[in-house]
Amino acid sequence: MVLSFQAPSHLNVPIVRPRYEVADVLRNYGDDYRARHSLPIHVHRVLNAIQNCRTAALGGHVERCNDCGELQISYNSCRDRHCPKCQGLERVRWVEGPWPSLRQGSDRPCVVSLG
Ligand SMILES: [Zn+2]
Repeated sequence: MVLSFQAPSHLNVPIVRPRYEVADVLRNYGDDYRARHSLPIHVHRVLNAIQNCRTAALGGHVERCNDCGELQISYNSCRDRHCPKCQGLERVRWVEGPWPSLRQGSDRPCVVSLG
């Protein structure tokens, strides 16, 4: 199942959630991978951050609509620069970023790696 969300109005880009996320892979296979491989502590921290991002493990808050009283639970983000969930909005901003001259006539940006 693919869920679509409304991006911030100034971005005008749909945000689509994949069926499986990196965090799902880490939750399912991360412990086994870590047991078989010796990883530096900073890699463990990143993997833990991604795995726990936007889950109850990092806490959260409840918002209530003042009009209808509907409650919405939002879990905290890990804010790690490697986390694909946390960097999703930044990626959208980058795609929408200062590239108008490169994007003329195309719906998709052109990415060129220089190396
Ligand atoms: Zn995150």
